[in-house]
Amino acid sequence: MTANLLDYDLEGLAAFCAELGEKKFRATQLFRWIHQKGASDFGQMTDLARSLREKLEANACIQGLALLSQHESADGTIKWLFDVGGGNAVEAVFIPEDDRGTLCVSSQAGCAVGCRFCSTGHQGFSRNLTTGEIVGQLWFAEHFLRKHLQTNGERVISNVVMMGMGEPLQNYQALIPALRTMLDDHGYGLSRRRVTVSTSGVVPMIDRLGEDCPVALAVSLHAPSDELRDKLVPLNRKYPVAELLDACNRYLEHAPRDFITFEYCMLDGVNDLPEHARELAHLVQHHAGRGVSCKLNLIPFNPFPASGLVRSPQHRVQAFAKVLGDAGIVTTVRKTRGDDIAAACGQLAGDVKDRTRVERRIAQQRTIVLKQVPADSTKEA
Ligand code: SAH
Ligand code: SF4
Repeated sequence: MTANLLDYDLEGLAAFCAELGEKKFRATQLFRWIHQKGASDFGQMTDLARSLREKLEANACIQGLALLSQHESADGTIKWLFDVGGGNAVEAVFIPEDDRGTLCVSSQAGCAVGCRFCSTGHQGFSRNLTTGEIVGQLWFAEHFLRKHLQTNGERVISNVVMMGMGEPLQNYQALIPALRTMLDDHGYGLSRRRVTVSTSGVVPMIDRLGEDCPVALAVSLHAPSDELRDKLVPLNRKYPVAELLDACNRYLEHAPRDFITFEYCMLDGVNDLPEHARELAHLVQHHAGRGVSCKLNLIPFNPFPASGLVRSPQHRVQAFAKVLGDAGIVTTVRKTRGDDIAAACGQLAGDVKDRTRVERRIAQQRTIVLKQVPADSTKEA
């Protein structure tokens, strides 16, 4: 069977090369060709012996994701939709800022957690992405952007957030090699502090992540009590708030940053009142007698029709932030980006809500996209 080399971290690639009877340093060379140079063709790899290139041609491939469409927002945000087969599509979003370039990456097609305010959750769970499909989003985006922005080969993406579609900690096996590839100096060389896993609170997997591959952690809290959180994040019934915060404190012993980011999606009349803010401040400052070292990130709810929920008015978000700030908690309000192209948090639905017609639409979109995007960028598709 042909192996897709995007599925391997460096260790996995070394094992694959060993099976082909090759030395470990060959794997490093190959890994650099793939991730640092964006190569998809073994013929390009001129410093590899011809015999190795021939073995690779026979046993391996570098198979990127099939691009369906690309939308660029007025604010520079770019959203890509990728076909992952079986009528499923996933999205990745690039968010440029003055001092960084962030890629928001998906981990699953759909999501089984089913949070009330999340468009991906409403769509249900289709399947886990493979490591190659997770890394493939970064591989595509980084090398596309280098050409698109004409950076002379300089790196564009400095930060990755696992905040696209899906619950990354429910796809742990594929996630870990993907994270390792992002961090590897021979891969993307991203700092652990600049790779963030966002989770709705899969407690046992938070512990494992701390052991296996500590990176920055964001926890989607959204409510200060079990009573309310049970309604918004169904996983809370399995892993209630107190257990989640205990896991956060354990994680901090390994984490590259000395705080957890708590995300809190502001829903009009549901979780955005001053008493919720006071309860939240008390919770994170007094949990288990010592609190949790954290920052609060308030996310304006990005509405979608099926949710039946409404974004909190700005004055209420400000009042909420003030209660937290006055209590001494570092609080930020997230700017929404890419609103005009439905690229904001929670709006990523892979455009597959209408499953009956999706296959046809994917076929149509593919034809259109192939006409619009330069041949170069869809070559791997
Ligand atoms: N499954 C993970 C990561 C993907 S969701 C998680 O839940 O953390 C990324 C972030 O977007 C989460 O904080 C999530 O709560 C938030 N989010 C989901 N739907 C949203 C919406 N409609 N508006 C604003 N934020 C939303
Ligand atoms: Fe899944 Fe995260 Fe959406 Fe909840 S918010 S349904 S965990 S993707």
